[in-house]
Amino acid sequence: MRGETAYGVQRCPLCSELFEMRNYEQKFCCDDHKQAWWRRARVRGGQVYDLLVTWRKNRKTKGGKRGQISDIAHIVDQWLMDDREKAAKSPKEMKA
Ligand SMILES: [Zn+2]
Repeated sequence: MRGETAYGVQRCPLCSELFEMRNYEQKFCCDDHKQAWWRRARVRGGQVYDLLVTWRKNRKTKGGKRGQISDIAHIVDQWLMDDREKAAKSPKEMKA
């Protein structure tokens, strides 16, 4: 047992590759993917924040296209599609 890790196997949230954990808190396969995931989350969080504020301000407007919850769903759908395309091309080279 000496020298063996007992932390298990985890799937990286950025590249979806399985990796052996070096400690029980490890969530990403490498530091590059951890940093890329957080950069992406920060940018996307800012985009959704703006859309949510606009949606909430305009929620009682009838007939207006701007500020609809579908705008948020649309941008999230784009993110998911981008992530799938990047993962399919090169899982280990993923960047934010
Ligand atoms: Zn990874």
